[in-house]
Amino acid sequence: MVPVLSDLQKGERVKMADKLKLAIARGATCSGCDVEIVDINEKILDVIKIADIVYAAVIMDTKLKEVEKWDDGYIDITFHHGAIRDSENEHIAKLFRKKSKILISFGSCSCYGGIPGLANVTNKDEIFKESYMDTPSTVNPDFVVPLPEWKDETGHKLTLPRFYDEVFSLDDIVTVDYYLPGCPPLVTQINQALDAIISGKLPPKGSVLASEKALCDECPREKPKKINIERIYRPHEIELNPDKCLLEQGIICLGPATRAGCDAKCIRANMPCRGCLGATAAAIDQGGSILSAITSILAISDKETQLSEEDIEKLVGQIKDPLGTFYRFSMPKSLLRKVEKEKK
Ligand code: SF4
Ligand code: SF4
Ligand code: SF4
Repeated sequence: MVPVLSDLQKGERVKMADKLKLAIARGATCSGCDVEIVDINEKILDVIKIADIVYAAVIMDTKLKEVEKWDDGYIDITFHHGAIRDSENEHIAKLFRKKSKILISFGSCSCYGGIPGLANVTNKDEIFKESYMDTPSTVNPDFVVPLPEWKDETGHKLTLPRFYDEVFSLDDIVTVDYYLPGCPPLVTQINQALDAIISGKLPPKGSVLASEKALCDECPREKPKKINIERIYRPHEIELNPDKCLLEQGIICLGPATRAGCDAKCIRANMPCRGCLGATAAAIDQGGSILSAITSILAISDKETQLSEEDIEKLVGQIKDPLGTFYRFSMPKSLLRKVEKEKK
């Protein structure tokens, strides 16, 4: 007998004979998430004791057509990585939702739209123009662009997935049961999620399988009581003190607005947090949250009356690519995007 969701949530251990069926489905992905799953090394031995992997495009040859024939709910748990950017991604998302008892959004592309979601600052036509017409790296004298349907000289019809005008997260398309964010989620996070599955101790549906705290809480650097910075630097422009908070040194670090759980991996390598674990449990909008934290530490807040508009603009202008910096992983989920869509 295959264990069902209620068995897993009741905290019952999975019996060896009752192997779970696991799947790894993919949307618009760089496959870094696949690589991280393979990186769990010997943990895979614990996984195969309790589960069979029934679909994983990167390591197996199971076809989607076969998945389509399976009963609904046939798969116990699907890990889905990648955003939804075209009609094939959408088909896969809906198919695996239907065939799975539990669907886990795996990685920040799937949870929030991730890096592909940055394309939401533009649209399909602009992207095709840049990629196939204006590009200096492609020889395309006839300005051919990918078409969803095309007939060759024999009348044979060829099809391609339809490229959407915007990028979506998985839960924009289907209901998601759990979220495992990160770009990619770290092996420690994956192992914790697998332990919860193996021991049947998954939290309530809708949970994010990561810490509730902010990254600053697990950051080992000295945190001053008050920060007041007059200049913003990029990491290569300054010699960084490895013990002091990066924000205090004028480096944009998304730690205050980012969920903890990675043991401050980038910070320990003397690089600022870019926010890949997404917003903290308390923040609605990751970009808005870090923007408000940064505004409060810029010298503007203390000297507003003495600074001219030009000075303020200069100070804020030191933040390179604010949209890409503050919403690198979460643009499709941002309030900014929501407001823009509502206006349209
Ligand atoms: S979350 Fe990161 S590693 Fe995973 S598919 Fe997206 S870009 Fe790649
Ligand atoms: S802002 Fe960055 S460097 Fe400073 S405490 Fe938070 S995570 Fe650490
Ligand atoms: S420090 Fe930030 S960007 Fe780096 S792994 Fe952790 S959450 Fe992601």
